[in-house]
Amino acid sequence: MTEIRISTLKGGTIALSNDILTALRSELHGNLCLPGEAGYDDARTIWNAMIDRRPGAVVRCRGASDVISAVRLARDNGLLVAVRGGGHNIAGNAVCEGGLLIDLSPMRSVHVDSKERTARVEPGVTLGEFDKETQSFGLATPLGINSTTGVAGLTLGGGFGWLSRRFGLTADNLSSADVVTADGELRHASTAENPDLFWAIRGGGGNFGVVTSFEFKLHPVGPELVSGLIVHPFARARELLAGYRQIASVAPDELTIWVVLRKAPSLPFLSSDVYGKEILVFAVCYSGAVADADAALAPLRALGKPLADVIGPQSYAAWQTAFDPLLTPGAFNYWKSHNFTALSDGLFDALIDYVGTLPTTECEIFIGQLGGAISRVPADATAYPHRDTKFVMNVHTRWRERTEEKASIRWTRELFAATVRYATGGVYVNFMPEDETDRVAGAYGSNYERLVALKAKYDPGNLFRLNQNLRPKS
Ligand SMILES: Cc1cc2nc3c(=O)[nH]c(=O)nc-3n(C[C@H](O)[C@H](O)[C@H](O)COP(=O)(O)OP(=O)(O)OC[C@H]3O[C@@H](n4cnc5c(N)ncnc54)[C@H](O)[C@@H]3O)c2cc1C
Repeated sequence: MTEIRISTLKGGTIALSNDILTALRSELHGNLCLPGEAGYDDARTIWNAMIDRRPGAVVRCRGASDVISAVRLARDNGLLVAVRGGGHNIAGNAVCEGGLLIDLSPMRSVHVDSKERTARVEPGVTLGEFDKETQSFGLATPLGINSTTGVAGLTLGGGFGWLSRRFGLTADNLSSADVVTADGELRHASTAENPDLFWAIRGGGGNFGVVTSFEFKLHPVGPELVSGLIVHPFARARELLAGYRQIASVAPDELTIWVVLRKAPSLPFLSSDVYGKEILVFAVCYSGAVADADAALAPLRALGKPLADVIGPQSYAAWQTAFDPLLTPGAFNYWKSHNFTALSDGLFDALIDYVGTLPTTECEIFIGQLGGAISRVPADATAYPHRDTKFVMNVHTRWRERTEEKASIRWTRELFAATVRYATGGVYVNFMPEDETDRVAGAYGSNYERLVALKAKYDPGNLFRLNQNLRPKS
């Protein structure tokens, strides 16, 4: 092996000598991968095909000691660092150009303590892997809606899905974590130990260090619960959205309904003459007793005659993978997102207009329903500040050909601008694309100043800067 050049925090490059690289290799349980070596391309390839970066070197970690070695190497040499969990983040901060990639994806264990109802999870674990282990014991914690997403990034930004109105954010269910901070030390973070660090990592993203282990609380869930889709023709969208607003305002915590506006994919339960036409979908999960679901769903079913109603009892683990076929890795993606405390008629009008001009067949606008247990946590209890947000809209633009890129991104930005007046100004940190540096303060909201102060305490040199970055005050 000869020396290699790696990008630094200062913007230049530095040579890492053969001796340094040999010493690092001998320390690692996992691997050091250089460009062209086995594992390098796997590590740098992430969900969003828009991101095509080539790190100078990758440490594929197998445990906390590998993470410590990588962080110390970066600290001692001032290296540019990226941290990869599940590799799903739309902004692509999981990979750096030229720097050191700390790849956690080989760290995949989940250990469930069914008696204590806790799970200890390594940072490369995906939602599907977590659900599989916990559901073997009839347990779960709230996670997101696509099973290939990483638990790590999801949790550090907040994390919400079908169970969150009942049990809170993923981060609200975190009881402790082990974190390698910028000084290369492993710290335990909980309400009892390093409580300020524990506060910061529940919504502050990857700013404070590399989490090597998460401990979650679990809840009895399923194994069967009532879930599925109701698909309507788009022509009645205004009326349906107004009905949804009313139903959502009084829904019990067990009921979560998301709205998806898009062109109909070729789903087997839809008639083929609907494929490619605009539809409005209610995606529904009732996490209470199966016997109580019909009564809870009656108002939604009374909204009119749908094209399909495929709601029924099914395993929670299966429902957690229901959207996977529409969200496969490898496509080009661009997102814009707003938070809302209420849904207004003006917003509905704008959405209806823009659904009329969807740039590709795979684009969708979804409105996720929050509130419930999420909103009962004070905004300053964790770093996640948006406790009053009742709905989050994500404009998810997705295309396959480079020629579709310009029009797709323009459409997304225009829709975002047309709806900004109805939004809170806050944004969910995990839904921000890489060009939204002007929204970072909005992402951390009322907790921004405290987070900046903690950044100065735990990462004064801003080693962990490839994220929705908090700049430490000098
Ligand atoms: C198809 C799709 C569906 C989604 N659905 C939902 C949803 O339902 N609910 C929801 O809340 N979110 C959802 N998200 C957003 C998701 O929460 C974020 O993309 C999240 O960042 C993914 O985490 P990851 O570990 O896969 O990402 P990565 O890209 O690996 O990591 C994202 C960032 O987190 C930091 N990071 C990752 N791991 C660590 C670690 N161990 N220690 C320190 N920092 C770390 C790094 O800064 C990294 O850049 C979805 C995303 C996609 C692409």
